Amino acid sequence: MKMSIVGTGYVGLVAGVCFADVGHEVICVDNNEEKIRRLKDGQIPIYEPGLSDILKSCQSRIEFTTDIGKAVESCSVIFIAVGTPEKADGNADLGPTLQVIDSICKAATVKKYIVLKSTVPIGTAKELSAYIDQKTKIPHEIINNPEFLKEGAAVEDFLRPDRVVIGCKTKEGKNIMEELYAPFVKNGHPIYFMSNISAEMTKYAANSFLSVKISFINELAALADTVGADINDVRKGFTSDKRINPAFFYPGVGYGGSCFPKDVQALIHTAKKNHQTMDIEAAADAVNDKQKLVLFEKVKNRFGDLKGKHFAMWGLSFKPRTDDVREAPALYLLRALTKAGATVTAYDPVATETAKAYFDAPFGLAESTVDATKDADALLIVTEWNEFRNPDFAKIKNNMKNSIIFDGRNCLSIPDVLKNGFEYHCIGRGIATTETSL
Ligand code: NAD
Repeated sequence: MKMSIVGTGYVGLVAGVCFADVGHEVICVDNNEEKIRRLKDGQIPIYEPGLSDILKSCQSRIEFTTDIGKAVESCSVIFIAVGTPEKADGNADLGPTLQVIDSICKAATVKKYIVLKSTVPIGTAKELSAYIDQKTKIPHEIINNPEFLKEGAAVEDFLRPDRVVIGCKTKEGKNIMEELYAPFVKNGHPIYFMSNISAEMTKYAANSFLSVKISFINELAALADTVGADINDVRKGFTSDKRINPAFFYPGVGYGGSCFPKDVQALIHTAKKNHQTMDIEAAADAVNDKQKLVLFEKVKNRFGDLKGKHFAMWGLSFKPRTDDVREAPALYLLRALTKAGATVTAYDPVATETAKAYFDAPFGLAESTVDATKDADALLIVTEWNEFRNPDFAKIKNNMKNSIIFDGRNCLSIPDVLKNGFEYHCIGRGIATTETSL
């Protein structure tokens, strides 16, 4: 089938490449000329494992352009995957989506199926449909197809989705989406058809629940730190109950990224508009705000005055296997440390360029994990990249002023750290300083 996708970012590009990979003909549109230039050159402008290889194998079926008019003219199915960032009032900003809708209305001469892949507030499809009816007499159907991929595993998630959710109104809309997704659900992965509004709400329900899971375990970890329990043992103990899925239940430095923070806010905002409250989601959000500064609080408790102190920071991206630094906990930590008079040298395997562009607090950059630790009063681990899990303790110890590690992701083994003579602060496992605290 021929289709276009407007918005060639973390979602749109992965979707476009995967649709092309299974045989569809795809036109990817973006208004960022530099991005499209690089894609035409065969370069991938984001870091997403596996994406580059698939693009190579389906290059004949995918086209990149800034010309949305051309894409609208030649395809009856147009996906929208532009950003829906948070506005100051907590609602999602539909400005980029409306820009695309305007362009579609201008260029369309026959019926168009407009598929909202972006995460849009509950009720958006209905509102956009009324908006389009006012602008043009060309018939249309708006379909919701929220995306559930995880950055860092996006290709695998798209090719083998847990489920595909479609919100649509007509048989034709349903048939089109069935045909598009048939290759991805051959192995029994379900497609759930529902109303537009239910599909919109499903996406917010998923992200809010995951945020609640993270804040729940983080809150327990704080209590474990205080009372002297080990959150890893507690986690194993309570998640082995069949009713509690253990996945995605690890304590850390809080959730970030371009989805959870804004989606929780958008859901709270939608409830408010409908004279309701979302108390659990609001609590998850508040716990997360505190959690983003958990390492800062631990560092302050350990050192007191941070003026003149210097720290090594491992990890800038909001999670491993991505260069995405939007709302990354590293940024909140960096802001707090520099405000308190400390300096930071950071290392990240792929996110240094994005961090330089996005972060508004000063930091130095190192070429390697070991280089980052030079003259550091302590090492702070913020993202659980695999290469941080087995450090060369002798080299970093030699480099550092003090042998102290604050591990915001519990990615080191307590016996290893202690054997190598480090003081170790982690999340929900107390402070390990001697072998006896094992
Ligand atoms: P992104 O910022 O990476 O990509 C958006 C792209 O849209 C950018 O390349 C931008 O240049 C382009 N764009 C903006 N306005 C445009 C316009 N008028 N015309 C053409 N192109 C335009 O965003 P993303 O992370 O891919 O997220 C897109 C949507 O998918 C959001 O609603 C997000 O909430 C949702 N989502 C994201 C993820 C994720 O992991 N990133 C997962 C699921 C859902």
